Amino acid sequence: MKAAEKTVAYFYDEEIGNFDYGGGNPMRPHRARLAYTLVDSYGLTKKMILQRPRPREFEELTVFHADDYINFLRGVTPNTVDENMTQLRRFNMGIAGEADCPVFDGMYEYCQTYSGGSVDGAAQLASGNAQIAFNWSGGMHHAKKAEASGFCYINDIVMAILELLKTYNRVLYVDIDIHHGDGVEEAFYLTDRVMTVSFHKYGEFFPGTGALDDIGYSKGKYYTVNVPLKDGMDDDSYRLLYEPIMQKVMELYQPGAIVMCCGADSLSGDRLGCFNLSLEGHSNCLEFLAKFNVPMLILGGGGYTLRNVARCWCYETGRMMGIDLPDGLPEKALDTFNMYLDTQRLRIAVSNMKNANERAELEAIKEIKAEVKVEPRQPGSAPGSAGGAPAPGPFPAANGSGGGAGPAAAPAADAAAATAAGGPTAAGMDWQPGQAGSNGGAAPQ
Ligand SMILES: [Zn+2]
Repeated sequence: MKAAEKTVAYFYDEEIGNFDYGGGNPMRPHRARLAYTLVDSYGLTKKMILQRPRPREFEELTVFHADDYINFLRGVTPNTVDENMTQLRRFNMGIAGEADCPVFDGMYEYCQTYSGGSVDGAAQLASGNAQIAFNWSGGMHHAKKAEASGFCYINDIVMAILELLKTYNRVLYVDIDIHHGDGVEEAFYLTDRVMTVSFHKYGEFFPGTGALDDIGYSKGKYYTVNVPLKDGMDDDSYRLLYEPIMQKVMELYQPGAIVMCCGADSLSGDRLGCFNLSLEGHSNCLEFLAKFNVPMLILGGGGYTLRNVARCWCYETGRMMGIDLPDGLPEKALDTFNMYLDTQRLRIAVSNMKNANERAELEAIKEIKAEVKVEPRQPGSAPGSAGGAPAPGPFPAANGSGGGAGPAAAPAADAAAATAAGGPTAAGMDWQPGQAGSNGGAAPQ
């Protein structure tokens, strides 16, 4: 199926842009409004299903998250922070201007909204109503079962994957945000029903996890792939690794659906990032997977140079619809926001920063990771496609321990088990108040 023949669903709530983390926090929900406005000014909204997400309620958020954590998110306000310091610390939150995850006005509603977009997107794919679903407000990959982290409170990605697992035997998660997708990896570390693949900057960088040899555990062994990278990744280097690894993953794992975290902080010139990708290089990651004609849920993530985040997500919306948008920005976009006056163009220039990733190192990583060890799907077994209840035990673990494996544990239980097993915990700051614009970030604490 060509891109232009796919039905695209786009989830957007116009209120999302009004939420504000406060205190100069670099995470700005306003980005999603900027992206939407660009998408609309190019006329793309006429060619898609545009939908307002249904906000998720307590019972739905606690399918993954702990009750007491969600209770806290629901109840706390900036005015009651002082009397809740113990819980605040327990849940890795703080006050605006000091914490990555501050308590701010409307915080719970914000979480309900962005998680709604991702789960609604998953449901649209599973129902067959759309082949591509976007929720640029989602992609909060650092949130844990009972802990906020790295600007993320609710892990909408885990919730969306759990929704997809009701229909599909196997779901592939791919993360091209510059930070390691730790929250999603941790949730599915012990299961073979979700394969997580994260490409990220590694070494003295938030959240500090995602080493080459973190590959999953128990039934989930080999179903976690980490590709640690250094500063200055450019389009060619990224492609050199991404395409052969993902080709192998797709051939062997044969997922029924794909979820992507498309954080734009891996772009050149990001306020917190240190890679050097162009829009074309970033978008190639989505386009490469789209060719396999598997339903895709495309989510946002990080991205801290706002004008480029909007450019990236608009460009990618177009590309996934089979449209190569003209580089000159529409008048409407230029009139509404003067932030694009830097170049008045859609595409961005990359910089001359040094690429610290040596070719030989990349080749070595490619050799290791292109040897994905999952077993190919047996001919005749149920494909990981829509329809019917998921078959039990879709994949015997490749280490031989799971032959004739019984039913996979319920996904939520898997997720809970992984968290309970004490997966990697991350604490740290990739943003120092008062040091806005610092490239990279402090080492994890
Ligand atoms: Zn990020």
